[in-house]
Amino acid sequence: MESIYQLRLTDLENYFLEHNDKKFHASQLFDWLYKKRIKSFDEVGNIKKETLEVLKRDYFLKPLNILKKEEDQDVNKYLFELVDGEKIEAVLMRHDYGTSICVSSQVGCNMGCSFCESGRRKKIRNLTAGEMVQQILEVEEDIKMRISHVVVMGIGEPFDNYENLTRFIEIINHPKGLEIGSRHITVSTCGIIPKIEEFMNFPYQVNLAISLHAPNDTLRKQLMPIAKVYPLEDLLSCLKRYLAKTSRRLTFEYILLKDINDHEEDALELAKLLKGINGYVNLIPYNETTHIDYKRSTPLQIMKFYDILKKNKIPVTIRREFGSKISAACGQLRSRKEEV
Ligand code: SAH
Repeated sequence: MESIYQLRLTDLENYFLEHNDKKFHASQLFDWLYKKRIKSFDEVGNIKKETLEVLKRDYFLKPLNILKKEEDQDVNKYLFELVDGEKIEAVLMRHDYGTSICVSSQVGCNMGCSFCESGRRKKIRNLTAGEMVQQILEVEEDIKMRISHVVVMGIGEPFDNYENLTRFIEIINHPKGLEIGSRHITVSTCGIIPKIEEFMNFPYQVNLAISLHAPNDTLRKQLMPIAKVYPLEDLLSCLKRYLAKTSRRLTFEYILLKDINDHEEDALELAKLLKGINGYVNLIPYNETTHIDYKRSTPLQIMKFYDILKKNKIPVTIRREFGSKISAACGQLRSRKEEV
């Protein structure tokens, strides 16, 4: 048995064909799942009973359980329980341009970045595409509103779960699915080069964010073990090919950690590294967590860093802060829940 939300429209069409049934049932069922948002196959009106009985034997339609929800002015944070009892998080953010959701892609994470709460727990398993889709469905149901933007920046490394990630994108982007425009979808990676190569050929205009966090390999290796496998020079040349091939939007995420990577020389080195690359830098004030010693850079240091990039003609923004009061940084809600 697997979740019905795991299936793309084409998978469902094949399923019906394999069961000597009509292909168009797939569109009908997608309509029940994603437009009418049924809770049980018994609510389906226009597909015959026998077909539904077969479907019920192979697929289940079970909501994710909301274990905990924290609310602040413009952000909701959810802790979900999966069918096997594992827990993941999603965060909803309200902007003036719409609402965005940050979804998780794995239970735990193997990347081991030293500043990240999620990485303190090794990967237990990949999320299925269905579990990723359901994070959106449950949150939309909770807020009674459509979500306009999706970022895959929750727990996990999406490129370490490539198949489910691309399946997820196809389902949420499909006009008969959740209809979220591909330019409103962003995938964030720590920089797994072979998967970036593969992603170049994925035929959707989604945005890519690269967690950079350091302007050179020496520092990057201290923060992110993945840098030992894929050095910056290779990463940047891969990204240049990526940009030439896709003309998609590229962002570099840079967490500012006090006295670690926030010196003026770091900003200068970063500007030099990114010169001529068509992307922009998103500076992220670090969300401090109880288990990890890093501190957030001071507002003055953040401004200095920003100014240096600007002066050197690197497009740069500072991430608006969400939910620092309600432990919205990656992995924090799960670990807090487990402490109590
Ligand atoms: N594994 C992917 C996506 C998940 S992390 C990646 O590395 O991009 C999403 C982003 O949140 C990354 O840029 C990560 O570095 C950042 N992040 C992790 N912990 C954080 C914290 N405590 N404060 C601010 N950003 C954090």
